Amino acid sequence: MSVDPLEAVVARRGDEALETLAGLRATDPPTTGGRVLSYVYDSGVSALDDLAVRAAGLAHGVNGLDPTVFGSVARIHGGIVRRVRTILGGDSGGAGTDGNGGNGGNGGESDDDEVYGVVTSGGTESCVLASLAAREVSGRAPGSGGSIVAPVTAHAAFRKAAHVLGMRFVGVEVDPATGRAAAEDLLAAVDGDTCMVVCSAPSYPTGVIDPVEQVAAGLEARHDPRIGLHVDACLGGLVLPFWPGGVGEAWDLRVPRVTSISADLHKYGFAPKGTSVLLSRGRARHRASWFATVDWPGYPVVNPTLSGSKPLEPSAAAWAVLEALGDDGQRELVARTARATSRLVEGLSAIEGLKVVDSDPGPLIAVVADVSAGEDRVVHPHRWADECGRRGIAVQAQPAYRQQRGSLSSSSHLTITPVTERLTGEILGVARGAADAVRGMPAPAPPAEFADVLDALGSGALSPGDLLALPEDDVHELVAGVSSGASDETGGGMAPLLAAIERLPAEVGARLVRAYLAAVME
Ligand SMILES: *Cc1c(COP(=O)(O)O)cnc(C)c1O
Repeated sequence: MSVDPLEAVVARRGDEALETLAGLRATDPPTTGGRVLSYVYDSGVSALDDLAVRAAGLAHGVNGLDPTVFGSVARIHGGIVRRVRTILGGDSGGAGTDGNGGNGGNGGESDDDEVYGVVTSGGTESCVLASLAAREVSGRAPGSGGSIVAPVTAHAAFRKAAHVLGMRFVGVEVDPATGRAAAEDLLAAVDGDTCMVVCSAPSYPTGVIDPVEQVAAGLEARHDPRIGLHVDACLGGLVLPFWPGGVGEAWDLRVPRVTSISADLHKYGFAPKGTSVLLSRGRARHRASWFATVDWPGYPVVNPTLSGSKPLEPSAAAWAVLEALGDDGQRELVARTARATSRLVEGLSAIEGLKVVDSDPGPLIAVVADVSAGEDRVVHPHRWADECGRRGIAVQAQPAYRQQRGSLSSSSHLTITPVTERLTGEILGVARGAADAVRGMPAPAPPAEFADVLDALGSGALSPGDLLALPEDDVHELVAGVSSGASDETGGGMAPLLAAIERLPAEVGARLVRAYLAAVME
């Protein structure tokens, strides 16, 4: 029995690679511990993280492309779908709790109201697939129109969906002070071209839960069942149902006119990245976003999601975490989240020059400048965010958003998770210190590299079209210096870049941030 010499070689090089990886990871912000208040959702229960890693290990190597070969895929995905469907009120109204969920249902009688589901790689994919299903159900071929009507505060994933699916995104303006969309404004935007209306529960930038029941009632009155009503609960789907005291009006599948809903396991399901669920009412809508073909010389292709080959690891981990937590565990984690949220809202509200935006119950906090404090006492939320970051607490800056009804203010965003409860005191200490450090400072200026461009745009010497026509290499030159961070007056923060985004036409801003990220990756 000879030992393959390659075994020893790859073991040695592999150890070196792991050491390098550990070194690289040490330079990242910590994904656990609660000091990063966006991107990561930390249960604070280390046994759950260990469990996720072990479950992923057991799923290693499986190709989720074909559940007829790898039966575990159907069982794991079905388990996730059934659990999330129950949490989101999809079992009532004739749907059997023993249905097969994502596996195709239990056959027999009419299943128009039965809720089916598919496990996707994340919220964006769930939103894109919901949009695709809406386009298909409405009978529109690619390139023949179809629009998605949504508050401007809906996640950018729907703009992306419209972009990749050849649909139109119709953004409905919100009240600039409250971030709230009125149901009548959303309904007024619905026309013969509309395939789908989107409500968020809640919206990521504002924490607002859109008026799902009112929109549902308005759509009901139109008598066109082909128009979808999608609830984007990517963020809220596994936290709002457990929020202490509830959140008020119904927003999930208990509202009969809701046709689909998305919920991310890799947010408040406390699973590693790579798992979300899209639930759809009725077999037709559920299957409308699948792709199938036998028109090629290879194996018959059936893809319920955008990928072909796909890992079982993330969904196996998500499933194991769901099983381990159960309703009681989930409720306890959400209760910790809710306590942390109210403590932080209270503490942040007391900081002079900052204002917490009033929102619905839920784990998101948006902070804006309190202009009533006066110019010399106001705290700019982006300067504050950068300063918090320098002090070890990462919050996320969000640019002002222009609309005709008046702009949504520059803000900073905090996502609160169960672990946050352990360090509300530390976070508030940093928040106060950071506010003291930047109070009375003027709004941040764009990076010096952009000064010429902004001047030229301002004077009309350059049009947005001229900028969009620039060769990619020129755009690269423009942002390369910025992404190196060398010129940043505030020492590595995001505030100057956001200041530039706020001043530029949106298409130009998009081109610059694309070049910025590309330069970082190059
Ligand atoms: C996170 C999020 C998404 C997109 O999810 P990804 O998993 O980042 O692709 C969509 N909608 C809302 C409300 C979200 O919070």
